[in-house]
Amino acid sequence: MNARRARRFSVKEFTVHTSKEFEALDITDRVAETAKGVKKGILFVFVPHCTAALITNEFEPNIKQDYEKFFSMLRKEDWKHNKIDDNADAHLGVAVAGSEQFFFIKDGGLVLGTWQRIILMELDGPRERKVLCEVLST
Ligand code: ZN
Repeated sequence: MNARRARRFSVKEFTVHTSKEFEALDITDRVAETAKGVKKGILFVFVPHCTAALITNEFEPNIKQDYEKFFSMLRKEDWKHNKIDDNADAHLGVAVAGSEQFFFIKDGGLVLGTWQRIILMELDGPRERKVLCEVLST
């Protein structure tokens, strides 16, 4: 691998501290910071956890509470994995919502819809969560 190509891949990482079992956190500004200075490209965002997810959606106070309630509703079932560490609902939430998102970078900023925000969805907190971001640019 030549040096020029190697410079293009440098995953940036930041940490998010969650404070509740189910918690939706707007991480848009921190994610955008990792792409600062890039005019055009693609930003990949990945959460390396089995019980925290990434979603892209509106983030006003009511829907924030709805996300938290929605995912906590999975807690009510008697899932088999609960015999191991009592967090099957968190795993299932991630299985549905996903661990990764990608965004276009255009004119030096992330391309998002008017109301879209990047949200870390804690499903088994409180914990410390890592967010990995990688920009591919020309
Ligand atoms: Zn588990």
